[in-house]
Amino acid sequence: MGERALIVIDMLNDFVLEGAPLEVPAARRVVPEIRREIDKARRTGVPVIYVCDSHQPDDHEFRRFNWPPHAVKGTEGAKVVEDLKPLESEYVIEKTTYSGFYNTKLQALLEGLGVKRLRLTGCVTHICVLFTASDAVLRGYDVEVVKDAVAGLDPDDHEAGLRIMKNVLGATIV
Ligand code: ZN
Repeated sequence: MGERALIVIDMLNDFVLEGAPLEVPAARRVVPEIRREIDKARRTGVPVIYVCDSHQPDDHEFRRFNWPPHAVKGTEGAKVVEDLKPLESEYVIEKTTYSGFYNTKLQALLEGLGVKRLRLTGCVTHICVLFTASDAVLRGYDVEVVKDAVAGLDPDDHEAGLRIMKNVLGATIV
């Protein structure tokens, strides 16, 4: 139990692997940095919380936002990539849209752990990382974003996402 938690967002096969349905090529480049973050958290007793897309096959997200089907619950694609996979004892929060807080148990989990400060890693910078950061800040959490451990779909959106988190949400970019 501590007041910080490391959050790993959507580092799933369907986003990270080459040729994946919603491939975020930059996500492969941040795997080693996230690995280091996870190792450090585990060593220092900081809880590691995985926040992961988990969609129904006909999820409205695929129609409404025109994303190709991805991270369908129960498939290989919805699993965390091998190099970053959670320990048995760690937390996996399934989400169905951009924010890790929307219709999930994340807030209850954080309250149970006494966590006040979130350190965000994962993908995509201007989508799930940004919307999770926003919901976190609106709920009173302090947010840090590890810039070398978040990945964007393209460099401009990535930079814009970081800028919004810093300037609008008051997140600390580390
Ligand atoms: Zn999704």
